[in-house]
Amino acid sequence: MELAVDATPDTRILNGSEKSVRQKLFCPIFLSLLAALCSSAGCPAQIRKSCGDLIYLRLTAATALQGTLVQVQVSSTKALPQDVSAEWDSKSSPIWHVEGHSKTLHGMVGVDLEKPPGRYDYKISWKDSIGQQKSCTAPLIVRAGKFPTEHLKVEKQFVQPDPEQQKRAEDDSKKMRAIYDTITPEPLWKGPFQLPLKEVVTGGNFGRRRILNGVARSPHAGVDFPAPTGTPVFAPQAGKVVLAEDLYYSGNTVVIDHGFGIYTLYAHLSQLTANPGDSVEAGTEIGKVGATGRVTGPHLHWGLTIDRARVNALQIVNREP
Ligand SMILES: [Zn+2]
Repeated sequence: MELAVDATPDTRILNGSEKSVRQKLFCPIFLSLLAALCSSAGCPAQIRKSCGDLIYLRLTAATALQGTLVQVQVSSTKALPQDVSAEWDSKSSPIWHVEGHSKTLHGMVGVDLEKPPGRYDYKISWKDSIGQQKSCTAPLIVRAGKFPTEHLKVEKQFVQPDPEQQKRAEDDSKKMRAIYDTITPEPLWKGPFQLPLKEVVTGGNFGRRRILNGVARSPHAGVDFPAPTGTPVFAPQAGKVVLAEDLYYSGNTVVIDHGFGIYTLYAHLSQLTANPGDSVEAGTEIGKVGATGRVTGPHLHWGLTIDRARVNALQIVNREP
């Protein structure tokens, strides 16, 4: 979450054509339904499965790159059972109704930028009208993302912190883990997510593997937007501010909880204009761009975490989970 402006903007919002090109290039040899459906025309762009009991399961992608997100819809021609639950990769995954729509449930799967490539099942479970336990599974194939490696020179204290700095950095990451381990069981957003800056629309560096002063470090988990110090930063959607303070590596940092395990993070700010506990709307100013923490110049570092998975934040822009 720490580094700075780097040359090439790298917008990775997958549009339909880009997706289909990638999927044509990759038909996995898995002995799965997916492989069976792949043909010279390409792999299916999404999964839609009839689960019985008039229930349908849809995933917006059959294959997903590391660091991307996949939207899920469970729908029925009649009202859905009350107790539909979902899991991905054998872990519970939030699923929710949008107000007024009892026949559809929505979910979102975040594929962590270091998730090992392979097949991970998405499964829904429910009890039918006579109380029998039912389930339905769809395979989601994770593929390796193509992330460049960069070599950077930063101040020595950020690669070899002294014991006091080390302690501070560890306390910060404990705090962040505790935040991401908390899943607010309701949606706090209303509508599609927006970009956090008004004028700057492209950001890059997501997923880069980094060598700092010759030492390999964790990959870059956010999107960097180059912008001058003082540029206002806005909440991309409604939520609750759960952190607004100075952290060792990420400098002045704001984290917004949007509900259901969806968090956005804003780092290296010159100024914080939000406080922990604040409820924000889409467009509320939360701080100003700066160069605090481990940086090589002023920029906004924007992070998105979905159920602890580090995802390219540009993936959520214009989407309504
Ligand atoms: Zn960054």
